[in-house]
Amino acid sequence: MAADHLSESLSQSAEIHLFEKRKGLGRKLLIAGSSGLNVSNDFPIVEWPKFFEGSWNWSKLFSDFGTDAWLSQIHGLGFETFLGTSGRFFLKEMKASLFLKAWTSRLEKAGVTIHTDHDFQAFQKQDSKTRLDFKNGTHFVSDQTVFALGGGSWNDEEALIWPKAFQDHGIAFHDFTPANAGYEIDWPKAFLDEADRKPLKNIQLTTALGTKAGEILITSYGIEGTPVYFYGTPGLATLDLKPGLSEREVMAKLNQGKENFSLIRRAQKFLNLGDAAQALVFHLGFADPKRAPKTPEALATLIKKFPLTLKGPRPLSESISSRGGISLSELNPDFELIKFPGIFLAGEMLDWSAPTGGFLIQASAAQGYSCAQAMISRI
Ligand SMILES: Cc1cc2nc3c(=O)[nH]c(=O)nc-3n(C[C@H](O)[C@H](O)[C@H](O)COP(=O)(O)OP(=O)(O)OC[C@H]3O[C@@H](n4cnc5c(N)ncnc54)[C@H](O)[C@@H]3O)c2cc1C
Repeated sequence: MAADHLSESLSQSAEIHLFEKRKGLGRKLLIAGSSGLNVSNDFPIVEWPKFFEGSWNWSKLFSDFGTDAWLSQIHGLGFETFLGTSGRFFLKEMKASLFLKAWTSRLEKAGVTIHTDHDFQAFQKQDSKTRLDFKNGTHFVSDQTVFALGGGSWNDEEALIWPKAFQDHGIAFHDFTPANAGYEIDWPKAFLDEADRKPLKNIQLTTALGTKAGEILITSYGIEGTPVYFYGTPGLATLDLKPGLSEREVMAKLNQGKENFSLIRRAQKFLNLGDAAQALVFHLGFADPKRAPKTPEALATLIKKFPLTLKGPRPLSESISSRGGISLSELNPDFELIKFPGIFLAGEMLDWSAPTGGFLIQASAAQGYSCAQAMISRI
């Protein structure tokens, strides 16, 4: 994004070089877009800051480069977007690889020189310039530099070498921990045999951090899905399996057909629970005869507040994003290192976090844009 905005604004008046350690650009964009790329969210831009962790002037960032600017950037590359029922914007084109290809090709046409297989290792200030050293033994001297090295998720061990390059200069870095991660739960085998990879649709999850409605996927290790990514935290959580009905309404339904059906059968018959929810009630709620609900009241309470113990998040290597990174306190409002003027940082390598839903990609793009704006103003 930074290279794009620079090349668009400076035309041929500056040399722009883009370095990437892999053989191709944008691996995480491809991973994120493997089943449709969610690029933004239709929450009014004034509400966006409430979704962001990290002390920053988020309102300014998104008023400088908000949803409209980001979507028109995408449209300008020849790709259409649509607003899903979840309030998220997606690329219409299912293959994120085509989007990436179009963006890369635009950069090349605009004169940006792309250097793949360039694994950045260290930097040194040389007066006002910066020398960048790469693992392949080459180096490059730049007038101004943007680092956008990404966060801690979905990376191999080697990717974490870059924090040292900054720590060596006394720049504060907080270790990466998982964010937007699935949570582990010890499921009984009988439950998994029935419910593995099945969704719990239209439920509401409550943890010590808050309550979020949505869909949860049952996995062999626990649960995944937006409500978990928003409010997952170790400890007791509860699921409301029928958020559209009050406890009293659930109970009224369970009071039907008493003469012909058992309590569990009435739950199946009159509550229209999905497969995974039924399996949950049957295999966990009724597993221990001593603790199984005996009355419609008790079962209604269980269905409205189904207890689950969340053990801990899945590892960084599987989480969608990360907390941690270079401390925001190291930057001035232009995303420039206070200790090293002329060096700008953007994206998930910085210590901020946001839920999934398009916030992550858009915030990273907005930061790239801001860095470029600041660089242009210094030329
Ligand atoms: C499974 C998954 C699903 C996601 N879904 C969504 C979603 O639905 N919506 C959303 O908004 N976001 C989503 N994201 C997050 C989104 O992909 C990131 O927010 C975004 O890619 C961050 O951009 P970035 O430029 O900061 O980092 P990255 O995209 O990670 O880019 C960093 C680049 O720097 C390169 N690099 C790293 N170290 C070096 C080095 N030493 N030298 C040279 N190059 C280096 C990397 O190879 C990489 O190409 C998802 C992520 C994952 C993993």
